[in-house]
Parts: sequence; C-alpha cells; structure tokens
Amino acid sequence: MRFLAVLLLILSVSAQAKIKLAITIDDLPNHGELPKGVSRVDVAKKMLAVLKKEKIPEVYGFINAAKVKDEPLNKEVLNLWVKEGYPLANHTYTHMDLNTNNVMDFQKEIKADEEMLIELNGGMNYKFFRYPYLREGAEMKKRNSIRKYLAENKYQIAQVSVDFEDWSWNDPYARCVNKKDQKAIKWLGKTYQNNAVAKLKEAALMSQKLLKRDIPHILLLHIGAFDAEMLSDLIKNYRAQGVEFISLTEASKDQVYIDDPGIAGKWGAEILQQIRKARNLKLEDIGIERYTGYPQKELQKICL
Ligand SMILES: [Zn+2]
Repeated sequence: MRFLAVLLLILSVSAQAKIKLAITIDDLPNHGELPKGVSRVDVAKKMLAVLKKEKIPEVYGFINAAKVKDEPLNKEVLNLWVKEGYPLANHTYTHMDLNTNNVMDFQKEIKADEEMLIELNGGMNYKFFRYPYLREGAEMKKRNSIRKYLAENKYQIAQVSVDFEDWSWNDPYARCVNKKDQKAIKWLGKTYQNNAVAKLKEAALMSQKLLKRDIPHILLLHIGAFDAEMLSDLIKNYRAQGVEFISLTEASKDQVYIDDPGIAGKWGAEILQQIRKARNLKLEDIGIERYTGYPQKELQKICL
C-alpha cells in the first residue's frame, strides 16, 4: 500500500513535465497608455522588483533608443534595467515595421539602436535582435537580406514561442483605472492570466506535435503598466504549470532557434507557428484546437 502511494506520487510528479521558459520584455523604455499618476519609471521599478524577488534569470529588455531621444526622462528606465544586472538588446531604433519599410532603412534602424546599447550595457551581450511585431519580411528576398545583415553583424534572432498578446491589456487597464472601475479591472486580470496559461499550454503541445520534444520556450511580454501589475501572478501561475525559468541565452542555444524555418509572410508569428506554416500544416492537421479565448473585441470596448 505504501509502495503504491509512493509510485503514484512519482507518476504524478513526472506527469507535470518541466517547461523551460525565458522571459523577454519588449519596447523599453515604454509601451502603451499609463493610468493617471503612474510613471514609466514606476512601471519599470515594479517589474524589476518582481523579477528580482522571483529570481528570474537574465531578462532581456528590447529597446527602441529613439524613445529616449524623444523623452530624456525615459532613459532612467534603461538605467534601472542595467543597474539590476539585466541586459538590453536591439528592437530597432524607432520600432520600425519591416512590412512597410525597405531593407536599407531597416538595417539603418538596427545600427542606430546600437549606440545606446553599447553605452548602457556595460559589456553585456546586446547582440540579440527582436523584430518589431515579429515581422521578418513578407517576401523571401527581403527576409533573407535582413537575416544576412544580422548574421554578418553577429546578431542572433530572439525568436518568440509564447505570445499571448499581453500588450493589448495595457490601454484598457489605463482606461479602467482612470474610471475607477474595479469590476472591469478584475476581469482584465482574470482574462490576462487565463490567456497567458492557455497560450503556454498551446505552445508546449505544439512543440510535441511538430517536433516530438519539448523545446525551451521564449515568452514575449511588454513594458506596460498592466504587465507590471500582472507579473507576480503570472510567474506564480506559470510555475504552477511546471515552468522553470531560464535565460534567453540558454533557450537560444536550442537548434529550433538556430535553424531557419524558411518561410516569408506579412504576419509576424511565433517560431512554432512559422515551422507549422513552413510545413504547410493547419492546426487541425496536427490535432490542435484553435484557441478562441482571446477577448480582443471586449478589450477594445471595455471602459471606453
Ligand atoms: Zn515591440
């Protein structure tokens, strides 16, 4: 009887497989609307305090240096990031969309972001590149030109495997705080966390279905006021799903982030979605039900 109990315990622990996950945060120093009375520095401090408390390793902040030129006070956000020992990396100078700009201008934007990275990073590696909107080029020629430029300049692409549209809760949150609508804010929290967990599970399942193994995952978040509010619970909820937090450097060593999926499109997509598209498979072809829980319309309307 005792043996059986121990055996069941072992089985239940191993059933909760570890999901390795690196947190990355985009659009430093600012993203989205702020509620009245909250500053960009408040948002950064809140996020950093949670990341340190939870001992999350090496959280890269992807910067658009033009936002500091536009508003010098924003530089404090980047200073705080580095002061806490976290590295910064490249997200283009102005958050340029590759779909609506040419290769030359896009390369100039990558270059222009570097001055501030070199100034602030204190020797930490800044040579990760995150495409704005995850858009890597709608045509193969354009896509390959940028990839070639990145490789020649020793950048690794910081792909994303878990994207739950976290950014889209930030503006509604600012509106709801300003309206003091507590019921709406509660709903925002619930839907944010539900969506985050659902998309994590989907990514873990897709890894198994497409690659027959668990890849280390890379989560995309943004430096927004609601992201800062949600981060502590998000980390707890993810740990309850078996997540073990790792660094982007460690995750990026996996072959899935080194191989080129070799597909172009107007869309920006997570790595596993790119691989699925490159193999010409639909979600139903790999036995994954399309996720319909994202409350996009409600988010646009709430607290208006
Ligand atoms: Zn971005």
